[in-house]
Amino acid sequence: MTFPTTSNPVPDIKNDLPWHHLTVTQTLESLGTDEDRGLSEAEIRRRQEVFGPNELKEMGGRSPLVILWEQFTNIMLVMLIAVAIVSAVLDLKKGDFPKDAIAIFTIVILNGILGYLQESRAEQALAALKKLSSPKVRVIRNGTTFEVDAKELVPGDIALLEAGVQIAADGRLLEAQNLQIREAALTGEAEAVIKQAGATLPEDASLGDRVNLVYQGTEVVQGRGKVAITKTGMDTEIGKIAAMLQSVETEPTPLQQRMSQLGNVLVMSSLGLVALVVLGGVIRSGWQYFEELLEVSLSMAVAVVPEGLPAVVTVTLAIGTQRMVRRQALIRKLPAVETLGSVTTICSDKTGTLTQNKMVVQKVNTADRSIAVTGEGYAPIGEFDGAPESDPELQGVLTACVLCNDALLQEKSGEWVILGDPTEGALLTLAGKGGLYREALDPKSPRMGEFPFSSERKRMSVICENNEALELGDAPYLMFTKGSPELILERCSRVRIGADNQPLTGEQRGRILAKNDEMAGNGLRVLGFAYKPLMEIPPAETEDSEEQGLTWLGLVGMLDAPRKEVKGAVARCREAGIRPIMITGDHQLTARAIAAELGIADAGDRAVTGRELEKMSQEDLENEVDDVSVYARVSPEHKLRIVQALQKRGKFVAMTGDGVNDAPALKQADIGIAMGITGTDVSKEASDMILLDDNFATIVAATEEGRVVYSNIRRFIKYILGSNIGEVLTIAAAPLLGLGGVPLSPLQILWMNLVTDGLPALALAMEPAEPNVMKRPPFSPRESIFARGLGWYMIRIGVVFAILTIILMEWAYFHTEAVQGGDLVRERWKTMVFTTLCLAQMGHALAVRSHTQLTVQMNPFSNPYILGAVILTTILQLMLIYVPHLRNFFGTHILSGQELLVCVGFSALMFLWIELEKLFIRWFLTKK
Ligand code: ATP
Repeated sequence: MTFPTTSNPVPDIKNDLPWHHLTVTQTLESLGTDEDRGLSEAEIRRRQEVFGPNELKEMGGRSPLVILWEQFTNIMLVMLIAVAIVSAVLDLKKGDFPKDAIAIFTIVILNGILGYLQESRAEQALAALKKLSSPKVRVIRNGTTFEVDAKELVPGDIALLEAGVQIAADGRLLEAQNLQIREAALTGEAEAVIKQAGATLPEDASLGDRVNLVYQGTEVVQGRGKVAITKTGMDTEIGKIAAMLQSVETEPTPLQQRMSQLGNVLVMSSLGLVALVVLGGVIRSGWQYFEELLEVSLSMAVAVVPEGLPAVVTVTLAIGTQRMVRRQALIRKLPAVETLGSVTTICSDKTGTLTQNKMVVQKVNTADRSIAVTGEGYAPIGEFDGAPESDPELQGVLTACVLCNDALLQEKSGEWVILGDPTEGALLTLAGKGGLYREALDPKSPRMGEFPFSSERKRMSVICENNEALELGDAPYLMFTKGSPELILERCSRVRIGADNQPLTGEQRGRILAKNDEMAGNGLRVLGFAYKPLMEIPPAETEDSEEQGLTWLGLVGMLDAPRKEVKGAVARCREAGIRPIMITGDHQLTARAIAAELGIADAGDRAVTGRELEKMSQEDLENEVDDVSVYARVSPEHKLRIVQALQKRGKFVAMTGDGVNDAPALKQADIGIAMGITGTDVSKEASDMILLDDNFATIVAATEEGRVVYSNIRRFIKYILGSNIGEVLTIAAAPLLGLGGVPLSPLQILWMNLVTDGLPALALAMEPAEPNVMKRPPFSPRESIFARGLGWYMIRIGVVFAILTIILMEWAYFHTEAVQGGDLVRERWKTMVFTTLCLAQMGHALAVRSHTQLTVQMNPFSNPYILGAVILTTILQLMLIYVPHLRNFFGTHILSGQELLVCVGFSALMFLWIELEKLFIRWFLTKK
């Protein structure tokens, strides 16, 4: 084997070598790499330049043209286009320049482009988020093992695989232990494939039969392996099949769906209104006013459509995801942003989510000895209190700790860190305190086989070559097993006492279990250790028969302290009507102790175990779920049953998970949450949200953000649609009152709906959380957007809006006619109506921020955007009246100071009305 150096340039790597046909040695030679040392730094950089990053080009997303086209198929825009055409025909017939039509077209196009920009930005943002959650890969480079971003892989890299990993590039296996890989992404075959490193296959073996290769995008279900990377990026098999690439998630959120339904209702009702006005008018006064009626109807049609709403919704959701990322919650599926606020139950793992996952062994218990261990963190510095280091029982446990272990303990710039599972890291630290290190033990007792850990088995075994220094007998091989103490003890028939192995008596069994309960009752996480001498290496898949007749070595109890912020987060959940539930693989006493400490359950509360769950029917479980807050010693499939039972009881469930087999439960949950640090790639793929810090408190924070997003959306819908109703009623009232002409032109209406309504609505989307947001129960995700009085509010405010404007319109019409006379001047009443509608919305924007707090009681700077939007919009509105070019274009007229004051006065009445409503609500609430 040659190790490449810069003076020994690698052979050019051809991507089309039949890797499955080559032996391991041939593969390593062709790739110019070394199985144990990997590539050198300089070589990696060179290859990165040649092969580029290991990335798939996103091909699944919608093409820009499709996104653009979809903007114009929106039913509201289609109606606007129709309005523009009719308006153009009317103007041309009168010999006028079709200004309104051109303006509507411009706005339709602008709206389309705006929608396009927003949607493509949202897609890009989601793609970027997806990259953020891109997997890490454990590699051997330059002789050391560490983790790198998947995109940095190059052909020739040596990567390590373990259960739960999503494979990041194609490769040839160098080693495989019990390795099973699900290749559904590539072959569609759901059944996992058993892989072998030793095989050399015929050149024409089909993709599915190449058991010595692994492919990008497939998932390790079980076992471990070592591969030499052969192809990266678009050269991989999955890269070749563009159609199979995962597209960016772009499903419409429930809200967006409701919005498009709302659009349909609005368009249909406005068409109905148009028909009604035209028909009614024609029946009453014949065809002579047809054109005028048509103009009124066109304005009404434009007025009823909230043109700015879709853009505001998109922006709000985007802001929501950003706020959540800032609080360490990464949203993978957009609907989660708004539905998070509806969560009623959070099912959380214990280890790492509720606790710190920084394990420190505190107790070791062997047949004869109870040993306290001192020391902090992962530094292997500490004392054994209760036995000398050389005690054979203690040495037996420590040896098992090192050999039956997949983690690495390293000193990096003066600090001890671990690579791998913290539980295993703590065991290496413990052994280090007794002078045993893997660097010394591994070469003497190399690993020959293993039965890997899984959450279902709750144990693992490794088979090593024996070495007399271990002082564990003279069999050629030793199997070390560790895992859940009760399960391991069940499989033991002997116990190590001193340097001897003796039959395990019933009394000893009882003592060990009592000791286990005592440690667990104190909140310690306890593992049991055993070993077995073997004459030969057992074949794969014989774990059930091999892991029997073991010799008990001892118990190890480690402290995994609760995270400090979790207790407060649990209390906040309770206040917010959300029930936290702990679902853990750990012992019920450990689980209960931690749950009691955090306030998830009371000290005496029942904990249901996986075994009990097995015996319960789904119906029994449904009857119990409301009362049980702690589930212990569960397997991933139990999690699925618990979610289903909770959902059956009408709960809206968020569920955390990290393992491969948690994926079904994560998919079933209303919000599936994966762990960013310890989670497997498979669980991340199945999730709606990833906790970047694995922390329970982050779930609560994200829930709060979800509630804020939803209430802001409701806030600006209230705001926008109230104004639309006001506009429509005002326009319809003009001909009824016998006022000549349409008060608002389509162009002015578009201006209101997009600019004077749109800007403050955007600012309302930035509204911070109301103080009581986590002090009320969650709202149902299935409630209508008009629920809880919102529909009634819109109609009420719309009518008040209309009454005020109509009174003003009546006054202005006769005022301008009486005072000034003359055609052009008389038109000023229309400008007054236009201005009042706009300015009244400014007051509405300020007041709508809270439905109980008076505006003067609110801090105007807690949302400075509102103030900014109101000032900017007012200035823009005044420019439309006082800047000649704009005046001409928008068809407005100069208002006198007095007239402007009248408009401001009427607008202020709107604001006053809403504030009075608040006082009334408060009075009503206190009476109740
Ligand atoms: P949680 O489900 O809250 O994350 P957990 O880590 O205890 O808690 P699992 O990872 O499913 O849950 O582990 C189940 C049990 O298996 C543990 O309680 C422990 O007894 C045992 N166990 C955990 N890690 C290992 C390991 N690396 N080797 C052997 N046994 C283990």
